[in-house]
Amino acid sequence: MEFLGAEDVIWEEAPEEYFTGAVRFGPLYSPQDPEDLNVLGVHFGPGARTDWHSHPGGQVIYVAEGAGFVVKDDGTRAQITAGDVVHAPPGEVHWHGAKANTHMVHLSLTWRGATQWQGRKVTDEEYTG
Ligand code: MN
Repeated sequence: MEFLGAEDVIWEEAPEEYFTGAVRFGPLYSPQDPEDLNVLGVHFGPGARTDWHSHPGGQVIYVAEGAGFVVKDDGTRAQITAGDVVHAPPGEVHWHGAKANTHMVHLSLTWRGATQWQGRKVTDEEYTG
């Protein structure tokens, strides 16, 4: 067993290339093989969000703190808050982020390789919905 104290998780700024606003990643389980399960804590400041993307193996999101949105590219929008769970199927294009007036922390569980970025930011209009 390996025990990591909170101080052992090295949170780093998410790249501006793929995110809008203040987003930090805390790697909780980083596999040797990128096909295997990857567990990240993700901290979104108010109004911060991912760009449009999908996950080759799908994604499980568990909201640990705060409140936000998850939005599919057909416009389906869900408000998510602490304790909520999202299952995104493989290849489904979406974004997630915090509400404008609060932060959100979620766990992200992915597998079967890296996030597929669509090369477009979530505009303010798309964010507001
Ligand atoms: Mn996602």
